[in-house]
Amino acid sequence: MMRIDIISVIPALMHSFFEHSICKRASDAGLVDIVFHDLHDFSLKKHRQVDDYPFGGGAGMVMAIEPLSRCLDQLLSERTYDEVIFFTPDGQLLKQGLANQLSLNTNMIFICGHYKGIDERVRDKYVTREVSIGDYVLSGGELAAAVTADAIIRLLPGALGDESSALTDSFQDGLLAPPVYTRPSEFNGQSVPEVLLSGHDRNIDAWRHEQSVLRTQKRRPDLLS
Ligand code: SAM
Repeated sequence: MMRIDIISVIPALMHSFFEHSICKRASDAGLVDIVFHDLHDFSLKKHRQVDDYPFGGGAGMVMAIEPLSRCLDQLLSERTYDEVIFFTPDGQLLKQGLANQLSLNTNMIFICGHYKGIDERVRDKYVTREVSIGDYVLSGGELAAAVTADAIIRLLPGALGDESSALTDSFQDGLLAPPVYTRPSEFNGQSVPEVLLSGHDRNIDAWRHEQSVLRTQKRRPDLLS
């Protein structure tokens, strides 16, 4: 079973996300165990404080090294981890290839930053990979952790109803996915492409591939190069 330990100052932000849909189903099926850690539980300070003023001054607080170290040392003493991932705007951009790679791991720790980020010494000592979910700044790493976990968990064998489904999604073969339709075949003058109703598998596959290429050329030509 895959295990993901998520360290956060507001784990409740992620609870609902993991209690629904594919992530919930994967967890119920014993494919993944998501374990939340409230960083405040690892603070020895009054009011369970986990942040402090930045050395050198300036706006914003910094997540302090002691509670993070305490939490990480405890987890690392309990089991071996394949990755300790910190979510940060200056990290490696999350793409399908990285999700595929991470889905092969067994144990991972996700660190969600907040405020101005975490003390750099935590990154230097513990973090094995830094991941960004896009060129914009979020208030915290919780959404980035949820996005990354979702992209990984849906790839675990047994997580999706039909295992081949993830393989036909965008990016897996370097192309965007073709258009999809469902019943009714006619709606207010709009009809479904004839080939999809033909029952001819080879023609349907060829049409889908052609549509994928056309869509990729139009929307994401960078993928083709
Ligand atoms: N001062 C940081 C900077 O400019 O790079 C931004 C800190 S941000 C307000 C707080 C936290 O949100 C970060 O430490 C990180 O964990 C998370 N975060 C924000 N944007 C993110 C992104 N695009 N990808 C992943 N995590 C992000």
